[in-house]
Amino acid sequence: MTINLISDTITKPTPAMLEAMLAAEVGDDVFGQDPTVNALQEKAANMFGKEAALFCPSGTMTNQIAVKVHTQPLDELICDKDSHVYQYETGGYAFNSGVAVNLIDGTNGKITADQVEAAIKPVHDWLPLSRLVVLENTANKGGGSIYTLDEIKPIRRLCRQRGLKLHLDGARLFNALVETGESTRDIGEQFDSISICLSKGLGAPVGSLLIGDQEFIAKARRFRKVMGGGMRQAGYLAAAGIYALDHHVERLKEDHRRAKILGETLEALPWVAAVRPVQTNIVIFDLAPPLMADQFLNEMEKQGILASPFGPATIRFVTHLHFDNDMLDRTVGALRAFRP
Ligand SMILES: *Cc1c(COP(=O)(O)O)cnc(C)c1O
Repeated sequence: MTINLISDTITKPTPAMLEAMLAAEVGDDVFGQDPTVNALQEKAANMFGKEAALFCPSGTMTNQIAVKVHTQPLDELICDKDSHVYQYETGGYAFNSGVAVNLIDGTNGKITADQVEAAIKPVHDWLPLSRLVVLENTANKGGGSIYTLDEIKPIRRLCRQRGLKLHLDGARLFNALVETGESTRDIGEQFDSISICLSKGLGAPVGSLLIGDQEFIAKARRFRKVMGGGMRQAGYLAAAGIYALDHHVERLKEDHRRAKILGETLEALPWVAAVRPVQTNIVIFDLAPPLMADQFLNEMEKQGILASPFGPATIRFVTHLHFDNDMLDRTVGALRAFRP
């Protein structure tokens, strides 16, 4: 069987998840009448100690709606240069919200309160207004790196003092929390809005949640609709989300354990130049010259192992629900046997 380390988005519902989906009670969610969607939204809001939540088709949509609600045109958002909201959302901050972006040169996808403070612009007619800070936890392009609460709190304090909103792109937030042991409530206190993906490590087929206070979510509902994200009998998808939150959070530790073994294996190999620190389920490594990403990936593909290039000589592996111990053994074997 092919081993797919391209992304944790490739997972398919397990038989038990499918059963939960089939058993879902549904209604028309555009009218707010899908009981399963409502249950998922209430569950998510409660987990984070927030008033409300909104089920959306994707994490791009939840991030884009958050930027839209928190800003006005001619504002700017501040984020790390490698952020998903900047790199991988088709420039939507400009298209949907008419805002500028102020990029911080962070470390492993993470920024500090000092860096944010230095980035906040003074108020002049000729400058965009610094209005929103977006943090990503875990940081995807940063190699799955984790923000601890101790790192988030000073950023929160600064945003409060300076009147900026703070949004969390928590596409892989649960990957962070199972490692730090911190709670969803602790995280909820620190942010004005939170986006989480159900379709990454949690293994649901589709769906993300946007979480915040009542007023924020009421506005978010309108933007979801205008973006075409109002779904009708979405309860079948929401049921997968509820199942994922109940059954697929703790097991993320398994993905991390396997990712660490891949990282350690790579570190010992002569054709690997550097491996980013492996904190969760993402392993990013640079190949030693003259080996290039496409050459390496072609060879791996012949062994039935798929991964993605993350630069001309950089590779990303992502572990997930369908990457088991046998596949780990096969991958370690193939890496050790590989000769450039
Ligand atoms: C995957 C991801 C998203 C959302 O992606 P969708 O594919 O639109 O659901 C947002 N942020 C990060 C960090 C991600 O990895």
